Amino acid sequence: MTVDAAEVARRRPDRVIVATGSVPARPWWAPADAEWIVDVRDVLCGAVHPEGEVLVLDELGFHQATSVAELLADRGASVEIVTPGMVVGQDLGITLDLENFWIRAQAKGITQSTELVPMGVEGHVVNLQHHPTQQTVTRSPDWLVLAVPPTPADGLYHELVATGADVLRVGDAVAPRRAHAAVIDGERVGAALV
Ligand SMILES: Cc1cc2nc3c(=O)[nH]c(=O)nc-3n(C[C@H](O)[C@H](O)[C@H](O)COP(=O)(O)OP(=O)(O)OC[C@H]3O[C@@H](n4cnc5c(N)ncnc54)[C@H](O)[C@@H]3O)c2cc1C
Repeated sequence: MTVDAAEVARRRPDRVIVATGSVPARPWWAPADAEWIVDVRDVLCGAVHPEGEVLVLDELGFHQATSVAELLADRGASVEIVTPGMVVGQDLGITLDLENFWIRAQAKGITQSTELVPMGVEGHVVNLQHHPTQQTVTRSPDWLVLAVPPTPADGLYHELVATGADVLRVGDAVAPRRAHAAVIDGERVGAALV
């Protein structure tokens, strides 16, 4: 059920805690009408089915890019992951997932290219700046899948604030982070209520 301000008002709660998560955000350089540029969530929920040459952009350094890359490689796509970072999925080192990802990526033919910053798109050409050399390199994939910072789904929160409701928010609805942060937010807010 999708909750809106009218539903909240109907239930007459003493307080409201909004935990609506986040939604994909389009980077400035990605044309809104480029249907071949999609978010990882579009792929994982089955809204789109990238195939052929797929470029995955990792700006999050966690499971988002690597998991969707593996999924698409398993489906037969030719996958390259690019990242502005020095390592694809750099935070997977912390969880000891990186080494096993490297082994699986090698087996699945997933290539990884680092220190590449997306600068823009012309037609189906993605311009990337190689940080260390300042050289522009290009890719022309069939699909570009974005693992980039999302934006808070805070519409309901602001709607409720405007009604004067006693409302708090937790998790990605405050600022998109990771699951542990949502749990910590929830614990803090829950403790503050008693
Ligand atoms: C592909 C992917 C992989 C990730 N991998 C990891 C990982 O490995 N480790 C990690 O720690 N984090 C990971 N994250 C991040 C993690 O999922 C989020 O930080 C975390 O889920 C945030 O929790 P949340 O409760 O704030 O929001 P969410 O988990 O997004 O939950 C919000 C819920 O609210 C619902 N909702 C929104 N609006 C309404 C409404 N109006 N009415 C009713 N329901 C509504 C949404 O449908 C959703 O079910 C990943 C994220 C993605 C997208």
